Amino acid sequence: MTLEAHVFCTLPEMLASPVSSGIIKRAADAGAIEVHVHDLHALSPDPHHKVDDTPYGGGPGMVLRVDVVAHALEAAFDIPAEQLQERFPVILLTPQGEPFRQPVARALALEETLVFICGRYEGVDERISQHIAGQEISIGDFVLSGGEIAAAVVLEAVARLLPGALGNAESLEEESFAAGRLEYPHYTRPAEYRGWKVPDILTSGDHGRIKSWREEQALVRTRERRPDLLNDK
Ligand code: SAH
Repeated sequence: MTLEAHVFCTLPEMLASPVSSGIIKRAADAGAIEVHVHDLHALSPDPHHKVDDTPYGGGPGMVLRVDVVAHALEAAFDIPAEQLQERFPVILLTPQGEPFRQPVARALALEETLVFICGRYEGVDERISQHIAGQEISIGDFVLSGGEIAAAVVLEAVARLLPGALGNAESLEEESFAAGRLEYPHYTRPAEYRGWKVPDILTSGDHGRIKSWREEQALVRTRERRPDLLNDK
């Protein structure tokens, strides 16, 4: 199955590199994902290809227009924009959305089509959220200037979960957040560098003890750094 991802944004060039390198490219080469980046300027019904306007009620900045987004979505899908969310996730990237976490990535990776709407400037006309987007995602409690990088973050987290994208699917089972905890620490050669030694147990060859050491380390660091994860489940 190929996941079709459509990103609607005003700065498509910001997504050029993320979607053509690394894991998203690997997933695309494996036929697991297809990413289409749509330029809202090019698709704008406005004669001057404007995509934003000043806010009603005054205030600073510019607001992404609802008609521009609806028009672009309809050009791509030929279905009324407000009905798209019944068919697949239509996701608005916004600092006011649901915090993006691994379970959300896992759920999105099961879909056949994903649509992302990226704001810019002061934000987007609220009617995009009310009538067009069925889901809102925030990548964290900070404010970016646009949704493009946020969409790239979500896409990269989703792409690596798709079958065929990662070389070693086992690494997905142990990694951070997979079982509601952080992953254990890794070491590689050299065994000693500037007096900094790899824990003896890892070079002992005793796989049973290594396994329990790793489980314990994962727990210890989750308790120290992210106790909230342990309470989550
Ligand atoms: N004025 C708005 C922020 C607008 S930021 C507010 O205070 O809520 C401009 C755009 O960047 C947003 O429309 C959104 O698409 C994107 N963006 C900014 N921060 C983001 C975040 N943490 N997660 C996802 N998208 C974000």
